[in-house]
Amino acid sequence: MSDSPYWNPKTETMPREELSALQAKKLRAVVARAYEKSAFHRRLLDGGKVRPERIRSLADLERIPFTTREAWMECQGAVPLYGDMLAQPEHDAVRYHMTSGTTGRRPLRVLDSRLDWKWIAECWCYGFHGFGVRPTDRVFFAFSYATFIGFWGAHYACEKMGAMVLPSGNMATPNRVRVIEEMGATVVCATPTYALRMAQEARELGIDLPRGLVSKVIVSGEPAGSIPATKRLIESQWGAKVGDTAGMTELGTIMMFECSHQPGGAHIIEDHFVEEVIDPATGKAVGYGERGERVVTSFGRGMIPVLRYRTRDLVVKVPGARCSCGRTFDLYEGGILGRVDDMLLVRGTNVYPRAVEAIVREYPAVDEFQIRLWTDEGIRDEIGVRCEVRAGHEEHWDRAAVDLQKDLVRNHEGLHFHVERVPTGSLPRFELKAKRVKDDRVVKGGA
Ligand SMILES: [Zn+2]
Repeated sequence: MSDSPYWNPKTETMPREELSALQAKKLRAVVARAYEKSAFHRRLLDGGKVRPERIRSLADLERIPFTTREAWMECQGAVPLYGDMLAQPEHDAVRYHMTSGTTGRRPLRVLDSRLDWKWIAECWCYGFHGFGVRPTDRVFFAFSYATFIGFWGAHYACEKMGAMVLPSGNMATPNRVRVIEEMGATVVCATPTYALRMAQEARELGIDLPRGLVSKVIVSGEPAGSIPATKRLIESQWGAKVGDTAGMTELGTIMMFECSHQPGGAHIIEDHFVEEVIDPATGKAVGYGERGERVVTSFGRGMIPVLRYRTRDLVVKVPGARCSCGRTFDLYEGGILGRVDDMLLVRGTNVYPRAVEAIVREYPAVDEFQIRLWTDEGIRDEIGVRCEVRAGHEEHWDRAAVDLQKDLVRNHEGLHFHVERVPTGSLPRFELKAKRVKDDRVVKGGA
C-alpha cells in the first residue's frame, strides 16, 4: 500500500489531453461492443444513423442518441425481466439488483458479472482512498444490504483496500449506534439524512459521538451530501469530516467523490466515465460553470453498457484545478444540486427542495423537516415547511421560525412560505433517499 493520496496516481493526475485520449479510446471500445452485443444499443445507434466505427473522438460523442430511463423501462416491459440491454448472457451474472423505485415508477432491474463487481469496487476505492480511508480503518455500514445496490460496492472496496467492514444489515438505529461505539468504528457510511438520524439517537442514548473514534462519515444516496449547512451539521454532530459520493443503480457504482481536501464538490472519475452537462430543454452542451443535466457514458460495466444516459441530475461542472489536491479530474461544484424533475412550480416561482434544505439546515433548532404543498380555496398553491424542534432548542423556536420564514421568502422572489412546528417524531424518518416533499395539491403549479 503506497502513501499516495490517490488510489490511481497515474490517471488521477493525468494531463487533460492524455485523459481525453484515454477516454476516446475507451469510448470507441464501448460503442463497438455495445453495438455488437446488445440489441437495445444497436437499435439506438441505428436509429440515430450512427455507425460505431465513425465514433473516433470525444467530439463524436454528441452524435450518439441519448439513452433515457423511459426507454430502458420500456425495453424491460417488452422483454422481461432485463430487457434487451444486456451485452452478455444472463448466466454470466453473479448478482441481481434493482433501483430503489422512490419515484413511484417501475424499478429497473440490473445484473452484474464477477468482473463487473471488481470494477464497481474499484470505482468506490477512488472515493474511499481519496477521502483518506486506509487499511487500519474499521468501516461501519448503516445499510440494509438488500436489492438496492447502494453501498454494496463500497463494502467490497473496503475489503479490497484491506479495511475492516462492520456490516449492520437490518439492525435498528439504537443497535447501530451502540455497535459503532462498541466496535470502535472509525468510518461510518450512510445517507446524509440517516447520519443525522443516528446522531439524534446517540444523544438519546447518552453516547457522545464527537468524543468517539469516528473521524469520517462518508455519505451517498441523496444530493444533500454537499449542501454546506447539512454537511456542517453532520460534522458537528459526529465530530468527523463528511465526504460526499454519488452513484446510481443504472451505473452500478459511484461516478464522483469528494477528496480529503473537501473542495465543496465531487471529482468525476474520468478514466471510467465521460460526463457531459447539457441544457435539459435543448439537449445542447453547456460550459464550465453553467447549471445543467448530467449525461453519463460508462466504460466499465460489462453486462450493461451505458451510452449517454440522461440522469436528470442537476450539476455545475468546473475544472479540477479548482481543488488543491492535484487531481486533474473535473469537479461538480456542490455535488449533485438536485433533480431536473424535482423543481416545484408554486404560483409561478421555481422552488428546488435542495435549496429549501440549504436554508432550513442553517437553523440548528430544526431537527427533521418536511416541505408540504397544498391547494387553498380550491385554486391557490400554498407551500409550507413543517419542522420538528431539536431537543434543548425549544426556547429558540419562536425566533427561529420568524427568521426561517423570512429567509425562505427572501430566497424565493417573495413567495410566501408557512413555517409550522410539528410534534417530535411525527415526521417520517429515512434510511435511504429521504422524501421530504409532500405534495397534496389538487392542481400542481396553479396560479
Ligand atoms: Zn480534490
